[in-house]
Amino acid sequence: MQHYDIIIIGTGAGGGTLLYKLAPQGKRILVLEKGDFIPKEKENWDTEEVFVKARYKTKEEWYDVKGKAFHPGQHYCVGGNTKMYGAALFRLREWDFGQIKHHGGMSPVWPVDYLDLKDYYQEAEEMYHVHGLRNSDPTEPQESRSYRHGPLPHEPRIQKLFDDFQEYGLRPFPIPIGLRKDGNNEALLVLDRFDGFPDPSETKADAHTIAVKPALKYKNVNLWKNSEVTKLISDTSGKMIKEVEVQRKGEIFKVSADIVCLCAGAINSAALLLKSVSETHPNGLANSSDLVGRNYMSHNNTAMLALSIKPNPTKFGKTFAINDFYFRSDDFEYPLGHIQMLGKSDPIMFKEDAPSFSPGITLEYMAEHALDFWLTSEDLPDPNNRVVIKDGKLFLHYKENNLEGHKRLQRKLKYALEHAGCKKHWLPNHMYLGKKIPIAGVAHQCGTTVMGNDPSQSVLNTWCRSHDIHNLFVVDGGFFPSSAAVNPALTIMAMALRVGDFINNEIMK
Ligand SMILES: Cc1cc2nc3c(=O)[nH]c(=O)nc-3n(C[C@H](O)[C@H](O)[C@H](O)COP(=O)(O)OP(=O)(O)OC[C@H]3O[C@@H](n4cnc5c(N)ncnc54)[C@H](O)[C@@H]3O)c2cc1C
Repeated sequence: MQHYDIIIIGTGAGGGTLLYKLAPQGKRILVLEKGDFIPKEKENWDTEEVFVKARYKTKEEWYDVKGKAFHPGQHYCVGGNTKMYGAALFRLREWDFGQIKHHGGMSPVWPVDYLDLKDYYQEAEEMYHVHGLRNSDPTEPQESRSYRHGPLPHEPRIQKLFDDFQEYGLRPFPIPIGLRKDGNNEALLVLDRFDGFPDPSETKADAHTIAVKPALKYKNVNLWKNSEVTKLISDTSGKMIKEVEVQRKGEIFKVSADIVCLCAGAINSAALLLKSVSETHPNGLANSSDLVGRNYMSHNNTAMLALSIKPNPTKFGKTFAINDFYFRSDDFEYPLGHIQMLGKSDPIMFKEDAPSFSPGITLEYMAEHALDFWLTSEDLPDPNNRVVIKDGKLFLHYKENNLEGHKRLQRKLKYALEHAGCKKHWLPNHMYLGKKIPIAGVAHQCGTTVMGNDPSQSVLNTWCRSHDIHNLFVVDGGFFPSSAAVNPALTIMAMALRVGDFINNEIMK
């Protein structure tokens, strides 16, 4: 059996970023990745292939609480889900780390606070080439250093909407986006196919391009792609992982390491720990708290279109966001959430939902006239929302919660659209198309291996190290005690950089 200093399982926001931090230290690192490199091919930017035929999505079936099968929006590849992400890279707000009362219950306090992550957020923003404008977001946490790169410009139709909202009294601000505009690629061309698409030009700052690719230049780093970890096996003390079981090219291999970093994403990391039952761990590995897989969160997300009479020829609409209702509104004392523009929609994306929403209006008309929004509100941790493994199958139990703020957020946006300067632009019967993202939309998965100080109330300590298994770190969206209401990837990246420093300085020194 081959032995390494460190094994990293998964190469997404958590695993890829952690690898980047650990690689230069010269330790022998084996990276185990279930997927392959996404090929650079013309289908990368083909909406039919990507959205309708789901070319890059897993074909796996997962099951809901009633046993109904669904296809999760999950991507197994080098770079993980960041290959498809929209690279909107937000810091959590300072208050998100504290206890916050919501209409639907309490959002719990984190065992780390904003200052523990502040410098790592900065490091992650620089690493992932975030383009943004400091002090423009009314809820933004304290930071005196500016972004290295200024914000992306708004295209004319989006600028008009931005101005209308501003005049109405809202405080829209540029979305911080991770994007490499240097090099010889045609950055603005790429932006037409960005959120939800892989990027063969490597302009999008994803974990493969930014983190894994440079790390692979180190001789001490070895990547096994198409290699699925199927079990973690503990030693007789039950406190160390002694073997990692991997399925590769139809064969089962066993490898070992001084340190194992599990970064398979919040759902798959929990699933792997739950599958790793043994006599010493009948309830799954690292699970003395019985919290592995529980408190699954993924946000209350809605994609909303507003159909304007004025055409919207924008190529890339994802350039501003609104946080005026993040913590409260004038008529509601609880958090509502976050609004951001989405990349421009295309008629093919509407195929599934259109008939019930668009009598007499063609898909092409809709796409040409739509303004596209993405609304995110916090869902709260509920121990019954969980990953369960039964007969080798993955079940995701999820009951929505804390919906009142989310509904109000939608109403706030519609009201703003109808009362801002753009009001004359709407189709007569206020044509909105809204779609609450269903259980298969696992993009913002988090919470399933929660961090905390008390081993009976958490799975990981504040360095993402298992309370139970000394050589196990879990570094992906699983550590989140609460989901907050901004996109999660930058917080995962920042935490991975922090954990990387801890491993380099405290364990592997
Ligand atoms: C379409 C889309 C748009 C998004 N847009 C944004 C955005 O704009 N901003 C934002 O912040 N977030 C966005 N997200 C979410 C963001 O991509 C995730 O939060 C982030 O990638 C999660 O990082 P992770 O490390 O937890 O998991 P992942 O990035 O999913 O990485 C997990 C890795 O583990 C591998 N793996 C899984 N199981 C195994 C196994 N058993 N053995 C070996 N390897 C395994 C996977 O292949 C993958 O490489 C988006 C996601 C999607 C799908």
